[in-house]
Amino acid sequence: MTIALGERILFVVAMEAEAQPIRASLGLTGAEATQLHPDFPAMITIGDGPRPRAVATNGTDSRFGVDAIASQPAVVTTLTAIEVFEPTLVISAGAAGGFDKRGGAIGEVVLSDRVVFHDRRVQIPGFDRYGRGDYPVADLSAIAIDLGLTIGTASTGNALDAPQVDLDGMDETQTLAKDMEAAAVAWVCEHKRVPFVALKAITDLVDVPEPTGEQFARNLAVATKNLATTAAQLTAALG
Ligand code: SAH
Repeated sequence: MTIALGERILFVVAMEAEAQPIRASLGLTGAEATQLHPDFPAMITIGDGPRPRAVATNGTDSRFGVDAIASQPAVVTTLTAIEVFEPTLVISAGAAGGFDKRGGAIGEVVLSDRVVFHDRRVQIPGFDRYGRGDYPVADLSAIAIDLGLTIGTASTGNALDAPQVDLDGMDETQTLAKDMEAAAVAWVCEHKRVPFVALKAITDLVDVPEPTGEQFARNLAVATKNLATTAAQLTAALG
């Protein structure tokens, strides 16, 4: 039996500032958020109706008081949210760094056709491929073309900046969206056999002189607005 991808869509989002516009665009603002696990701050908001949509966030780290970004919280959130919501499609949605030299632009939305890690570099045969990951990605290219989205590689690492060796890796994979969660979410989805895709809005350009953090702060609002609009369009296109 084929289950339609759009039947139960779960968005996995790292930061509350990214999640809030997505919940609004999906009509989930009235729904109550529940904690996914008593020992972790991950939260989920689930809509109703025959084709429910859900938004899970990593929550706020209790010790540091900031959004629990990066790969470890993303794994806990994705696993617990999949077990509670049983999605037919998981979308890792959020902000990302783009690349001027590959035509990237602030506010552009990228849909992944490949998802890898760039900082799990292990120079041992077998472990090198394990490190990179290259997780299964659902083919939504027809919809992406209809919606005018950019299609390309999303690459994940646990740092906002990147040393040259990571940048070289991202050149090799022709990365269009550099983030800190997508590949971690994809790894869980592969194990749970749930179709996965990453949807990333560009908040900063990695290869321009201005510090990434400053670009990120200035552009987060416009990028998350575009991300939320696209999330709703993609959801509608999936039926
Ligand atoms: N200074 C920010 C921290 C955000 S970290 C703040 O406190 O608001 C960046 C987040 O956006 C991560 O969740 C990551 O997935 C994404 N991101 C945006 N631009 C990125 C880049 N250039 N490299 C890596 N991740 C990036």
